[in-house]
Amino acid sequence: MLNLKTFDVWFITGSQDLYGPETLAQAADHAKKIAEYLNNHHRIPVNIVYKPLVKNTEEIYNTIAEANKNSNCIGIITWMHTFSPAKMWIRGLNALKKPLLHLHTQFNRDIPWDQIDMDFMNLNQSAHGDREFGFIVSRMRINRKVVTGFWQDEEVADKINIWARAAAAWHDWQGAKFVRFGDNMRYVAVTDGDKVEAEIKFGFSVNTYAIGDLVAEIDKVSDEEITALVKEYETEYILAENAQEGGAQRQHVLDAAKIEIGLKNFLEAGGYKGFTDSFEDLHGMVQLPGIAVQRLMQQGYGFAGEGDWKTPALVRACKVMAAGLPGANAFMEDYTYHFDPDNSMVLGSHMLEVDASLAKDKPRLEVHPLGIGGKADPARLVFNAAGGSALNASLVDMGNRFRLIANTVEGVDVQNELPKLPVARVLWKPLPDMKTACTAWIYAGGAHHTVYSQNLSSEYLEDFARIAGIEFVKIDETTKLDQFENQLKWSEVFYQIQQ
Ligand code: MN
Repeated sequence: MLNLKTFDVWFITGSQDLYGPETLAQAADHAKKIAEYLNNHHRIPVNIVYKPLVKNTEEIYNTIAEANKNSNCIGIITWMHTFSPAKMWIRGLNALKKPLLHLHTQFNRDIPWDQIDMDFMNLNQSAHGDREFGFIVSRMRINRKVVTGFWQDEEVADKINIWARAAAAWHDWQGAKFVRFGDNMRYVAVTDGDKVEAEIKFGFSVNTYAIGDLVAEIDKVSDEEITALVKEYETEYILAENAQEGGAQRQHVLDAAKIEIGLKNFLEAGGYKGFTDSFEDLHGMVQLPGIAVQRLMQQGYGFAGEGDWKTPALVRACKVMAAGLPGANAFMEDYTYHFDPDNSMVLGSHMLEVDASLAKDKPRLEVHPLGIGGKADPARLVFNAAGGSALNASLVDMGNRFRLIANTVEGVDVQNELPKLPVARVLWKPLPDMKTACTAWIYAGGAHHTVYSQNLSSEYLEDFARIAGIEFVKIDETTKLDQFENQLKWSEVFYQIQQ
């Protein structure tokens, strides 16, 4: 999908005129070396672009105004090699519209004990220059990520990598469009919410189309296109006997392919990055989209079922954050529990729509009846997901704010055959343990719909929430229920006051 090397992060070094041309030239040279090092670092997925030193209010404001305007620039990194009196930064920071990372580093790793003199002290001042900058950012209540350490430390590159990926996902949301076919599943609370507030806060829009508009697009699909796509199915998947040519359910496979082509055409024509549908609104559709959705998610579209419009946006954001990393980011639902005290775990799945990028082995293409929706038997891909470290994330609307919840989990390889379960399956053990995690999740109001990520740690989502300016809570190996409940209560007060 996305190549993050098309995005730039600007490396802006603060200073002041006071030091004279020689020191300033040295400072610029050092800043260039750091920017180049980070730009070439294998773990950093975006371009790190050196910008000339900023030494006064005007240069700072002009550089930040340019960053705001530049459509490839997804964020800025600031560093104060020397002292840069921070009142000079107020005008620029007031205008800043892009994510901010403050790199608290020093050009020299070590103090040169035998050579150190006042010239060295004059140049290597980030120990206090960065404190002055940090004060004004805190004083102005601007969200940012602070990364501390020598610039060649692997941990520093890793933290910049995580933030840059979060910034790329944020950039992808700005102006993004998601389409909602039909409305929310009747009476469901957690999947609903304030779409106006979401657009103000997040920058993406959600608008509805009637399912009939999609049906019209599906009706335009030709037999030749269907034949070509079914050929693709035949090479990529193992077809169940009744789904093969001449099989009793073959027509349902052709219908599913027709839906996939029509749906993709609709999304491409409208420039959408994701969508949601509802089994309660299928007028004119022959079946609920199954394999179509599974394959479109694999291609990078966000999706969630039942009119849930927040989860498709989060699925899309996680896919962008993880671009190029091994592993999948998928729409998921906590479906049913295994409460064996020695081996507690969650079985995650959905009626049909489990992202095909989770498949551990070649998926089976099967056609089975679906109990709800009242339509023809839908075609779907059936597979198991691999085990390994993962997390579940959920975005909910608390009325006065959005809350992003992340729970780190340990994915479990599916051992049993599950011969009567005709959907894709994922198994995991939530951290710190099943009971604590599920209790905390419910206290936090986390949804049953999530993004299941095999390659993002909670730090990615924390950075993303910080950029978005929303609440972030995590449930992991350190979570204690009493402290977690208190955190939610205190946070409630914080957001009431902030309003
Ligand atoms: Mn669901």
